[in-house]
Amino acid sequence: MLEFRTCRMILERRPPPELLSLVIPCYNEEAVLPVLRQELAAFLKKLTVKVEIVLVDDGSRDRTLELLLQWCREDPSVRVLGLARNFGHQNAATAGLDAASGDAVILIDADLQDPLDVIPEMLAKYEEGYDVVYGQRLSRSGESWFKLFTASMFYKVMRTFVHPDLPADTGDFRLISRRCLDAVCSMHEMHRFLRGMITWAGFAQTPVRYHRNARVAGISKYPLIKMIRFAWNAIIAFSPLPLRISLAFGLISSFIGGLYGCYAIFRAVVFHDTVPGWTTQIVLTSLLGGAVLISNGILGEYVSKIFEECKGRPLYIVATRTNFPARVSS
Ligand code: UDP
Ligand code: MG
Repeated sequence: MLEFRTCRMILERRPPPELLSLVIPCYNEEAVLPVLRQELAAFLKKLTVKVEIVLVDDGSRDRTLELLLQWCREDPSVRVLGLARNFGHQNAATAGLDAASGDAVILIDADLQDPLDVIPEMLAKYEEGYDVVYGQRLSRSGESWFKLFTASMFYKVMRTFVHPDLPADTGDFRLISRRCLDAVCSMHEMHRFLRGMITWAGFAQTPVRYHRNARVAGISKYPLIKMIRFAWNAIIAFSPLPLRISLAFGLISSFIGGLYGCYAIFRAVVFHDTVPGWTTQIVLTSLLGGAVLISNGILGEYVSKIFEECKGRPLYIVATRTNFPARVSS
C-alpha cells in the first residue's frame, strides 16, 4: 500500500474567503432543484461571505438543465456547466471544481442530505488555517440498513487499500482551500476518487461532525452496482495491493502444487501406482487454473486502466457554460 500519512501542520489564521464557491453536481435532480434553490436562498441571506454557485448538469435526461438555466437567468451569481453526456459524479464534480474561482470551495450534493448549516462551521475552521474541512457523518437518516452496511464496509476496504488516514463516514462534502484545490486540479487521472486524492494532496485537514438527512426528493443515483464499480476503481487507482494478493495466491498455489508433485513422483517411483489420484489431479488443476485466471484478471484490470490513462482523453466535455465571467478551459 502507498504510504502517505499526513504530517503535522502549523496552522496560520487567515481571513474569511473573499469568494466562496459552492460546487453542486446534478444528475436527474428535477425533483430536488426547487427545494435546493429555496433552501440555498434562505441560507445565503445569513452568510456574510460572497458566494458563487457552480452547478454542473451531468448529462441529465430529465428537466434538470432547463431548471438550472432558468435559475441562472434569474440570479447572476449562479453559474451552470452543462456536460455533453453523463460522465459520472466524480468527473462532474471535477468539472465544477475546475470552473470554480473562489478562495475556498465547498463540494456538496444537490439532494440536501448534507445540511447547509454545517457550512459556517467549515468556514470557521478555514479561518483557523485548515485547508480541508470534511463533513463526517454522526448518523444517516432515511437510508436502508443495507446502504449503511455497504457504506461501512466501503470505508473499511478503502482505509486498507487507498489510505489509512482516509476518514471514515465521510462523503465528498467538504471545504477545500484554493491551494489544496489547485493541487487536486493538477491531477488529471481518469479514474478519480476525489476523497482519496484530496487526502493524498496533504495539507491540514479536519472534520466537522453532522447528522446526515434523508434525500429531500428523488432517488439515489448510486445503486449498489455503481458503488461497487466506484470502490473497485478507487482501489485500482490507488493501490497495487490486489496485484500483490494475486501474486501471493499464485505463490501459495504453486507451493502446494510443488509439494503434491513431489508426493506424486515419490508414489510413482516407490509404489508404481500412477493411475489412482485422478480426483486430486482434477482438484489441483482447477485450483491452479483458478489462481492463474484470477491473477490474469487482476493484471488485466490494471492494463485496461493504463490503456485508458495513456489515451489522455479529457475527463469531461462541457457543452454549455452559462454566467461564467471568462472562458475556463476543461
Ligand atoms: N450525481 C452526478 N452524476 C452521476 C450520479 C450522481 O452528478 O452520475 C450527483 C447527484 O445528482 C447528487 C450527487 O451526485 O447531487 C450524489 O448522488 P446521490 O445523492 O444519488 O448519491 P448517494 O447520496 O445516494 O450516495
Ligand atoms: Mg445523496
